[in-house]
Amino acid sequence: MLYSFPYIDLRSDTVTHPTPEMRKAMAEAEVGDDVYREDPTVNCLEELAAEKMGKEAGLFVASGTMGNLIAVLAQSSRGDEAIMGDLGHTFLFEGGGISAFGGVFAHIIPNQPDGTLDICDLETAIRPIDIHCPISRLIILENTHNHCGGVPISAAYTKQVGDLAHTRGLRLHLDGARIFNAAVALNTSAKELAAPADTVLFCLSKGLCAPVGSVICGSRALISKMRRIRKQLGGGMRQAGILAAAGIIALEKMVERLAEDHYHAKLLADGLAQINGLELYKGMPQTNMVFISMKEKDKQAVGEVKEKLKSKKILVGIVDRRHFRLVTHYWIDRKDINAVITAFSEVI
Ligand SMILES: *Cc1c(COP(=O)(O)O)cnc(C)c1O
Repeated sequence: MLYSFPYIDLRSDTVTHPTPEMRKAMAEAEVGDDVYREDPTVNCLEELAAEKMGKEAGLFVASGTMGNLIAVLAQSSRGDEAIMGDLGHTFLFEGGGISAFGGVFAHIIPNQPDGTLDICDLETAIRPIDIHCPISRLIILENTHNHCGGVPISAAYTKQVGDLAHTRGLRLHLDGARIFNAAVALNTSAKELAAPADTVLFCLSKGLCAPVGSVICGSRALISKMRRIRKQLGGGMRQAGILAAAGIIALEKMVERLAEDHYHAKLLADGLAQINGLELYKGMPQTNMVFISMKEKDKQAVGEVKEKLKSKKILVGIVDRRHFRLVTHYWIDRKDINAVITAFSEVI
């Protein structure tokens, strides 16, 4: 019963339950009080994560949102600004936390369709040293870029932004919630993609299937500072090794297989694009997200379609009044993909 799912759930890869191997490791995990730094499993996860990201140290946090918040708080002060994309997760979906808790100003510039920020826009956005202006401290990039279609961002582009940031005295934070999807899609390593960034966050609880948690990586000095901020936010966890145990398996066993999710996303996109009334919205998927839109002539609302699919035991995400987002993951197989294509063709 543990592993039977009543729905084919494509709303997100966050819906992934831990694998049987993770549950076993969680049950058997060696634990201690992590606030005293005495949880060997958390320590092991943090070291492993830092190594994968090519940074000195790592910090296990409750969520991606908490990790991004801690990274911003550690690298800016009240009244400073962080420059980011207008379609970025930090701007759109983190409850305004950076200004609520850090007094940090979100300076947004347009995301390009490929998820990048234009270098000229960035150069212009960085403020001069002038008492009229907030102090620009940080640039935030996102990889893969969720709202732009789950698109991977290249190491070469990230380096360009890192170089610009560092030349102008800013830092670069990489919201790499799905950085391993990007690495697999671009046939490179997360380390390569994260190299230009001062701090990088990634999620264990998305395509990598762990139940809870993210890790933020950076220099030893920055991670010490962030450990203190995590405690201030109430994020110091005790026997968190139970959770970290699943995270270790996520990093060691679940990265390579993301290619399967990407393959399934392409199959799904192919099948859906052939249905009269549907069209691909952000192009062919490059990772695990399929964005699909209802053609203008179709008078049916996306909400109606969503409900009809639900009655067929399929759950999909809605982006806005014309668009769906479907995310493939570990618990979605080839048979599910075919079932979803058939269901869409019946309800559209
Ligand atoms: C999911 C996500 C986050 C936040 O992660 P949570 O664990 O859901 O808080 C941050 N950035 C991006 C790009 C994401 O997709």
